[in-house]
Amino acid sequence: MGERRRDTGRGRIPGVTDAERRAALEAIAAEVRDCTRCRLHATRTNAVPGEGDPSTEVVFIGEGPGQNEDLEGRPFVGRAGGLLVNLLAHIGWTRQDVFITNIVKCRPPGNRDPEPDEVAACAPYLKRQLEALDPAVIVTLGRHSMGRFMPGARISQAHGTTGPVDPASGARDATVFAMYHPAAALRTPAVERESYEDVARIPSVLTEARERRRADRLAAREAALAAAAPVAATSAGGPIVTGATADPDDQLTFF
Ligand code: URA
Ligand code: SF4
Repeated sequence: MGERRRDTGRGRIPGVTDAERRAALEAIAAEVRDCTRCRLHATRTNAVPGEGDPSTEVVFIGEGPGQNEDLEGRPFVGRAGGLLVNLLAHIGWTRQDVFITNIVKCRPPGNRDPEPDEVAACAPYLKRQLEALDPAVIVTLGRHSMGRFMPGARISQAHGTTGPVDPASGARDATVFAMYHPAAALRTPAVERESYEDVARIPSVLTEARERRRADRLAAREAALAAAAPVAATSAGGPIVTGATADPDDQLTFF
């Protein structure tokens, strides 16, 4: 109660409050903590649903929890997490400014790669998180995460580049930005250097992603208005937007 409506000027779903978004993420996290949908539940200490600012526009997606994450139930809290925090600091951000999660929410034993059936079993949680967050930018960390959003890409070529996100992912209108996994950067100084160069691009990627989706949502609104009132629009010499405000996002209807 008393929650202010979000600044839809950032390109958000109109009418969704921070409190509603937070509640949706907490409901998903509670399910993840009790989940037994794949074999990884049997060997975990804690599931790691993910965490961050429910109103953020940027989601970072790693591969899966490691040992420290499994012990704490939080993402990226080990050495790779330390580097991720340093990378964020390079652009003046903190981990509290973004949302951080993983492709699989439970630690694969011995840090092996997750199996395809484990990734598939866990995918609905990530999809629901992305639906709730409606990010403008998804930053993938490492090959496995990149493979979900840039199928067929090679990380040596794709790191530091963007692409459109398939809305079937749950993120209805997002841009993906690929980065190396921080654990790879810890192993190889050249990869670490490139990771600092890549992270420095994120603010401008976010600005462009915001602008693109504002334009997309404005175009969708104009198409919906034209379909709803073609006669009024032509006879008046322009679209009649009864009750419209200056912010096009306020008028959008999503189906
Ligand atoms: N590596 C990942 O991919 N995710 C984490 O949460 C930690 C390390
Ligand atoms: Fe459930 Fe995902 Fe954990 Fe498997 S990895 S048990 S699907 S939360």
